[in-house]
Amino acid sequence: MKKGRRSFLVDSMKNNKIISKSKYLAGLQCLKYLWFLFNRRESIPEPDAATQYIFDQGHLVGEYAKKLFPCGIDVEHKGGFEKGLRMSAQLLTKRKPLFEAGFLAGGIYARADILNPAGSDEWDIIEVKSSTGVKDINVEDVAFQRYCYEKAGLKIRKCYLTYINREYVRNGDINPERLFATSDITEEAAEFSSGIRERIEKMFAVISSSDCPDIKIGRHCSKPYVCPLKDECWSFLPGNNVFDLYGAKNKAAELFGNGITLIKDIPEGYSLSFKQKIQLECEKTLKPRIDRKAIFSFLSKLVYPLYFLDFETFSEAIPCYDGTRPYQRIPFQFSLHVLDSMNGTGKHYPFLAEGRGDPRGDLLSSLKDKLGSRGSIIVYCESFEKGVLNELAESFSQYSKWVNSIIPRIVDLYEPFGKFYYYNSSQKGSASVKSVLPAITGISYDGLDISNGMNASISYLYITRSTGSSKTIAAPEEINKIRRSLEDYCKLDTESLIYILRKLKKLTS
Ligand code: SF4
Repeated sequence: MKKGRRSFLVDSMKNNKIISKSKYLAGLQCLKYLWFLFNRRESIPEPDAATQYIFDQGHLVGEYAKKLFPCGIDVEHKGGFEKGLRMSAQLLTKRKPLFEAGFLAGGIYARADILNPAGSDEWDIIEVKSSTGVKDINVEDVAFQRYCYEKAGLKIRKCYLTYINREYVRNGDINPERLFATSDITEEAAEFSSGIRERIEKMFAVISSSDCPDIKIGRHCSKPYVCPLKDECWSFLPGNNVFDLYGAKNKAAELFGNGITLIKDIPEGYSLSFKQKIQLECEKTLKPRIDRKAIFSFLSKLVYPLYFLDFETFSEAIPCYDGTRPYQRIPFQFSLHVLDSMNGTGKHYPFLAEGRGDPRGDLLSSLKDKLGSRGSIIVYCESFEKGVLNELAESFSQYSKWVNSIIPRIVDLYEPFGKFYYYNSSQKGSASVKSVLPAITGISYDGLDISNGMNASISYLYITRSTGSSKTIAAPEEINKIRRSLEDYCKLDTESLIYILRKLKKLTS
């Protein structure tokens, strides 16, 4: 170790600057983020509801994974950091699987999901993830743990990653043996360990400095996770910058690295896709692109009456109903608008499950009741609605014939925007309904208590059961308020489709 670096390490340890595995992973993503974690923690936004939901899912998965080792011992950390360390060290002598054993060595700290005794004096690391396969970031995580435990004097034999088996189908109580799959990642962890000491030394140097490292924005801001500082670091960018180019993450980073910030400044002759060229053209002319012929052809497919349909779903790592798989989408709400003519007032049929058990049977029955036997069913991003319907047909075979009969009637309103028949620069390269609606109609989701699908599913789960670690049970008034917000949100999802369709019609008349 170089002298300078050793002094950084000593200073950091004196100041209680301990690099845990989560901080190490943050440092791998970006040294600026790491510096903020140690020196400006208060400036990092708290996790939003969606991120917290993901954390809660991970915690629940961890609890189920412990059932794989019935004789395992949970290391108690409630008595404080030092006590947790002492307990972990003492419990090693029991030679039993240990959950959350934590070790500190040379200023780095790691807590293993599971340490499993192997042979007479070795241990296997078992890292548990709520994902459905092995990712590089998981291997980095385990490589750090291995380095830390070996520094603390443990002999590590093998490294494993235990994750969710997507093929598992629940039948009665959860069977942990089948819920999880495990991969041996010993070799990969060894490969990722190369240079780890130098990386950790560099991180100690960064966190000990009073100066924040000058790191430019780029793809790393969303890889492997969206950095919590992204809003702040990216706030200087003007609208319609190169990062708004459709499907061009690498290209955007390259252009930005070459000093080109705005789409309109992309030089002549630079290689762009068809859609990116449309964006550039719109930026230069300040006019929307309208392919009237293609829009007309799209509209001519429609058969009246028109049914505008949108589902809200939730999905969980641990399947909650018999016959369902991990992360299967469970629809709990739909909004259905029916129009006999383009400018008619139409009818609205909402459905929101009561929340006492599996919502799918009632939802299917209600939908079948309201969907007539002819007329286009208009959705936005058909793969989602079709996927939900097919999964419903799989689980409720008595509906499969009916589902098969309605799927060919689905028309995807995403098509004119996904194919850029219409593009307006205020969409900023996005064809999502949340971008298209304000761009084309001036109406937005602003002001709604629930304004995206993830929050809708979290809110539904919140009012229908205790959720995650918070174990909150909502009061009746709160439940009613949230149910109204869910109805407002889902209703706007199908109203939006009507507004957008009418606008398209106007453009072609
Ligand atoms: S937003 Fe990007 S540059 Fe800023 S701290 Fe995060 S990863 Fe680093």
